[in-house]
Amino acid sequence: MSESYVIIGDGIAGSSAAETIREAKPDADVTVITDEGEALYNRILIKEFAKGKLPEAPISIHEEDWYAERDIDLELNTFVTDIDPDAHEVHTHDSGTFEYDKLLVATGGTPTQLPVDNSDADGIHHFWTFQDARRIAEHAEQAETGVVVGAGLLGIDLAAICGEQDVDAHYIMRGNRWWRYGLSLEGAEIIHNALEEKGVTPILESGVNGFVTDDEGSVVATLDADDNEYDSEFVGIAIGLNFNTEYLQGTGVKTDNGVVVDQYMQTDVDDIYAAGDITRFYDVILGEYTQNGSWGSAKQQGVIAAKNMVDDDQAEEFRWVTSYSITHFDFPFLSFGFPTLGDDDCERKYSDTEWRRLAFKDGKLIGGVLIGDIAPQGKYKDLIRKEVDVADQKDILLEKEFDPDKLALPQEQ
Ligand SMILES: Cc1cc2nc3c(=O)[nH]c(=O)nc-3n(C[C@H](O)[C@H](O)[C@H](O)COP(=O)(O)OP(=O)(O)OC[C@H]3O[C@@H](n4cnc5c(N)ncnc54)[C@H](O)[C@@H]3O)c2cc1C
Repeated sequence: MSESYVIIGDGIAGSSAAETIREAKPDADVTVITDEGEALYNRILIKEFAKGKLPEAPISIHEEDWYAERDIDLELNTFVTDIDPDAHEVHTHDSGTFEYDKLLVATGGTPTQLPVDNSDADGIHHFWTFQDARRIAEHAEQAETGVVVGAGLLGIDLAAICGEQDVDAHYIMRGNRWWRYGLSLEGAEIIHNALEEKGVTPILESGVNGFVTDDEGSVVATLDADDNEYDSEFVGIAIGLNFNTEYLQGTGVKTDNGVVVDQYMQTDVDDIYAAGDITRFYDVILGEYTQNGSWGSAKQQGVIAAKNMVDDDQAEEFRWVTSYSITHFDFPFLSFGFPTLGDDDCERKYSDTEWRRLAFKDGKLIGGVLIGDIAPQGKYKDLIRKEVDVADQKDILLEKEFDPDKLALPQEQ
């Protein structure tokens, strides 16, 4: 009998795992299960669709034929309800049971709702799927006023959509700046100014007390932390993700705000692996368990998990320096590694739209943020991979034309 591989989730992690397994095991049974109604698309690009900058077609990555041609069984609109690890079975809502020899969990997360009055009113959007993007685009195209909540990497996408779709929007943030865990006030001010130029007004040190609705139940206004009322036919909320782990209850798979895996993407239950946003993984460079929500990282975790599922004697570890870029403004923005972690940092402003911050842990570079000039990213990522002590050479690291050859580094063996 041929081996059976079941993958839950057809995001980039699940899909790249399926492709990797098929290449390694031409005769195995490979099944990909997703509750979405369409095959893999580029989640990174759905914001460009919602901005009105890109049509639907280029956003799709795989047509259903892609799976058929590779003899991969794609189960669309299929929601996994629970798993029986002893029987090696995956149970679904109304599509029966799938048996596995090896199972990959790659179900990512679902946007968190704001726990305030009327947060489920019509016109209030969360942003994760292509279907969400279609609803957001349709609504933003005709809305005149809006509010965005959530001062992070997804919230700014919603703010940029308002800007591009001529929605007169307020962007409500809890702290004194956008992405306060990654940027200082000086760095964030570059972003605040760019938002204002797009017609989006940051409201700092605030929050949301609730939403006002009309007789039909549609949102018409947002109440901030001081009960100031902002007209908002359109509301976009991005305050974080709840990881989709409900179906793992009772399986013994360890979860800790995500599925805990080692550097091989293996859970603590035999034959069950996890990859992508859903994982809390052991990062071999950082030397600790951490999480990461980015496309490149999810893709690579899918590949590594698949390799280890097909051949766990040759275990390959996940060793990756991630990056995440924002392309909404006249200047580029890039976060790399883990800029929100660490015990030390340094930063410098070079011009009104150029700024850099680097984060260190135990003397080693672990991440950073580049605004305006992202060209040095390769050199910094290289240093992260080398795991060398550089925190005492911040002046050289922050030089505008950073030259790694100027650093005093231990000789390579
Ligand atoms: C609007 C937006 C913009 C982004 N921009 C960037 C960017 O610029 N750069 C970047 O690096 N990253 C970006 N990201 C993040 C990036 O898209 C994610 O990190 C990546 O897609 C995660 O992939 P994944 O496969 O782990 O999970 P997902 O893509 O979330 O896939 C998980 C799949 O599992 C399905 N699923 C969940 N539960 C079940 C169940 N019980 N049964 C069956 N199926 C289930 C889900 O519906 C989903 O299809 C962005 C994300 C969004 C939403």
